[in-house]
Amino acid sequence: MIRVTENLRVIRDLLAQASNDAGRGEHPVKLLAVSKKQPLAAVLAAAGAGQVDFGENFVQEGLEKIAATAHLDLVWHYIGHLQANKTRQVAQHFDWVHTVDRLRIARRLSDQRPAGRDDLQVCLQVNIDDEASKSGIGPDELPGLAAAVAELPRLQLRGLMCLPRNRDDFDAQREPFARMRQLLAALRQDGLELDTLSMGMSGDFRAAIFEGSTIVRIGTAVFGSRPT
Ligand SMILES: *Cc1c(COP(=O)(O)O)cnc(C)c1O
Repeated sequence: MIRVTENLRVIRDLLAQASNDAGRGEHPVKLLAVSKKQPLAAVLAAAGAGQVDFGENFVQEGLEKIAATAHLDLVWHYIGHLQANKTRQVAQHFDWVHTVDRLRIARRLSDQRPAGRDDLQVCLQVNIDDEASKSGIGPDELPGLAAAVAELPRLQLRGLMCLPRNRDDFDAQREPFARMRQLLAALRQDGLELDTLSMGMSGDFRAAIFEGSTIVRIGTAVFGSRPT
């Protein structure tokens, strides 16, 4: 578990360095520690090292960790595929959802968000490489979905998220992130107040930061490889 502390220190340095090299100052990027399939002890170790934001892909696993850390002031992000029959639990217990890609899901989250809680913070997932295996809205339908979600009560639309296909080379990694940056800029041009690009993982966060990422979602590089 000491490794988590050390890993976090290394990653925070790399994030600051990438931000500096990209000419964006030292601290424009939020680190989301993706704790899926990691034990509660790993979350507690990271929290002990000052980590606040955690990402989970599986609703039940996330709910257990949220309940077990209720005494800590952690912020929980749902980053997995969201099925309609799981929206209520997500709306009740998470702070953010990065993976909204249909109006039906957004409407359910809006209806099911408890009135006593802060607005649920939402990103729209874009299928930026048009892959059949991945969720996400296509760029053409994005403006319509964004306008509709922005109108819903108890949700705050913050921006866009993507999960591009793997690319090895830095310049190739930048390309889909650059298109995401342009999509966000176009929505802002249309009058939506958006401030978030959730993009970049362990293998490509530097390229994402060069294209304006504001949240990087990092699992392996923080916690080590996931148990299978
Ligand atoms: C697992 C996962 C991550 C983290 O991936 P790593 O390669 O372990 O950093 C980020 N985003 C999503 C949506 C994920 O499912």
